[in-house]
Parts: sequence; structure tokens; C-alpha cells
Amino acid sequence: MNSSKNRCVLVVGAGPVGLAAALELARLKHPVRIIEKKVAPSTQSKAIGINARTLELMEPSSVTEMLLKRGLKIPRINFLNEEHLIFQIEFSKVRHRYNFMLGLPQSETERTVEKKLNEFGIEVERNVELINFEQSGESVRCFLSDSGNEMEFNATHLIGADGARSVLRNKLGIAFPGDVMQGDWSLADVYMDCPLDNEGANVQFHPEGILFTIRFKEKHFRVASNKPNVLERLPKGSQVHNVIWQSDFTVSHRQAESYNIGRVFLAGDAAHIHSPLGARGMNMGIEDATILARKIVNGGLESYSRERHKVGASTIRMVKKMTEFATSTGKTKTFIRNYFLPVILTFDFVQQPLIKRMVGLGNS
Ligand SMILES: Cc1cc2nc3c(=O)[nH]c(=O)nc-3n(C[C@H](O)[C@H](O)[C@H](O)COP(=O)(O)OP(=O)(O)OC[C@H]3O[C@@H](n4cnc5c(N)ncnc54)[C@H](O)[C@@H]3O)c2cc1C
Repeated sequence: MNSSKNRCVLVVGAGPVGLAAALELARLKHPVRIIEKKVAPSTQSKAIGINARTLELMEPSSVTEMLLKRGLKIPRINFLNEEHLIFQIEFSKVRHRYNFMLGLPQSETERTVEKKLNEFGIEVERNVELINFEQSGESVRCFLSDSGNEMEFNATHLIGADGARSVLRNKLGIAFPGDVMQGDWSLADVYMDCPLDNEGANVQFHPEGILFTIRFKEKHFRVASNKPNVLERLPKGSQVHNVIWQSDFTVSHRQAESYNIGRVFLAGDAAHIHSPLGARGMNMGIEDATILARKIVNGGLESYSRERHKVGASTIRMVKKMTEFATSTGKTKTFIRNYFLPVILTFDFVQQPLIKRMVGLGNS
């Protein structure tokens, strides 16, 4: 085994977060390997919203430029009581060069980051799984399965971007406390004609549940609901031509108690999971990854866990409250949502800070 490889950082997982960590290390000319247990890149488009902070962080590697060419700018979110518009959140009101949400399927975001990573000379090593590790003061001894063959590798640091069921987090014995919301949610990506505002994202409050409708490409829409069978709940008057993907999922809010032990670090879903409302999951993970990579190269690693845990905790609190509020059918919350919020959100001093928090600006 090549000795320079043995002095490098090992990133586990080639989801958006692992790719972002490897990309930033490669851009900073720091030796890095990235392994992925799956044999092929994912084709699933779980996250479809890229926010301003992610675009800021990816500017130095020019990935932002590439993403902007591929994505669709979403200027606002419309909130509707059934069919009636009650209020709007306008990203364009934020004074920032990226004052929009960028719609792009997660699979394309991953492909874009991986392409850039390849340009920096780093290939994702697929069909390679981290099985175990042991750390000493100076390094982390990693036990890998490479296409079924056992291997060992000494890394200076190990980054666990290995998703919500993180092997690294479990082996470190880091608790992942939190809770799961009752009931199944559902989503689908459909090719359709939709009578709602096609430029903006739409959130409809119905007595039987909420419905999100967001266009992310030509006539491709993501629809999602806090109830099962979203295809039976589409906006009135929609004409579906093709269903591309559908899935049911549950929503949990959990956060790792610490984001590192010694030289082993967690980032992304390995460190935090929450409701997709607000589109923060992948984005906050890319923030973790980029900041961690910069700290590995430039110093300041000792503050990574504390700083990112704080951002994660406050985001999870906000997203959880927003989700409970949006999905509530209680009379008081429904009244506040339909009559009080539309009034207070007309004030920029209320709307601006809310949007900034939603898109990850101002807290990291
Ligand atoms: C329905 C849904 C909608 C969502 N919408 C949004 C949205 O609009 N915006 C947003 O920001 N977020 C959204 N999210 C969240 C987002 O998809 C996740 O936050 C994101 O995928 C997390 O990325 P990750 O790289 O941390 O983990 P993952 O994407 O889970 O990637 C982890 C990778 O690690 C690999 N791996 C695991 N263990 C090992 C091992 N031992 N060795 C090697 N490889 C390993 C896995 O195979 C996997 O490829 C959504 C999530 C869901 C479920």
C-alpha cells in the first residue's frame, strides 16, 4: 500500500456529505480517500433544495457555478389554506447573492460534486466498506472490506459521513437521542401539469394533512405529504403523465451527543436527522463536512463538535417546531397559522431573520 495514502484522511460514505468533505480536502490539496460500500452512485433524489449557505461554501471549488447551471431557482414559498393563498415567504427579500432556493435532485448534486472531485484527482472507491477501526494518539487503524477482501489502512482522521445508521457513531458508542413522529409520510416525483404557481414551492394546509408541491425541473415535481399515499392527494386539477419515484418514510428528530471522539468525526445524517420541512438535512450536512475539512487542514479541530452541535441543535429545534406547527390540526394552532402568521409575516423584520435561518445563513 502506498505510504502517502497512509497519511491521509479517510472519508466513509459517498453521499452528499462525504463527497463534500472529500472535495474540500482535495481542493485544499490534503491527501484524502473516500470509500462507499455501494457499487454504484445513488439515483434517488431525496433532497431537492440547495440553499444559500451551501452555495457560498462550494464557491471556492467552482461547484456552485456548476450547480447553478443545472438547477432551477425557486424564488418563494407559497402557503395555501387548501386552495387559497394565505402568505408567502420571498427568498428574494434577503440581501444576498443567492436569494433563492436552488432546485436540483440530490442524485444530480452528488454527481456534480463527484465530477469536480475527479477533476482534483480523487475517485470514489466503491464496493469498499469500513468494518471496524481502532484509534491511537497518532492515527486511526481502519479495517476495510474491499470487494470482499479484508484490508487495513492507517488514516490520520476518519470522517463518518455514513448516514443515519452510522457504523462509526455506533462503534464510538455515541448516543443518538431523540424521537420519532407518529405515522408515515409519503413522497413522489411526478411528471405532471400542475395548476399551482410553478415557479415557487407550494405548501397546502388541508384538514386531512399538508401537501408540498415543488417543481425541480421542467414539468418534474416533488410532492410530499405528512400522510401516506401522496398520489391520492395531489393539487386539484393536476394532470399526472408519469410517476418517476415514490416512497413512504417516517420522520425522526435525533442528534448525536458528540460529533467526535479523538480522531474520528461525524458529519451529516450520521450526526443529525430531522423532518425534511425546511430542506436543511443535506445542506446542514454539507456545512458540517466543509467546515470539518477546513479545520483538519487549517487547525481548530477541537471546536468542531461544539460549534456544529450547537448549529445542529438549534436547527433541529426550529425544524421540529415548524413541522409540529404545520402538521397540527388543533384549533388554536390552525387559527394562528391561517390568520395570525399571514399578518406578522408581512413585516420584513420578521420574515428576513426567519428566511436567513431557513437557508443556513448567519449561524455558521
Ligand atoms: C424523503 C426525504 C426528503 C429529503 N429532502 C431534503 C431536502 O429537500 N433538503 C435537504 O437538505 N435534505 C433533505 N433530505 C435529507 C437528505 O437526503 C439527507 O440529509 C442526506 O442524504 C444526508 O447525506 P449523508 O451523506 O449524510 O448520508 P447518506 O446520503 O445516507 O449517505 C451515506 C452513505 O454512506 C454509505 N455507507 C454507510 N455505511 C458505510 C460503510 N460502513 N462503509 C462505506 N460506506 C458506507 C452509504 O451507502 C451511503 O451512500 C431528505 C431526506 C428524505 C428521506
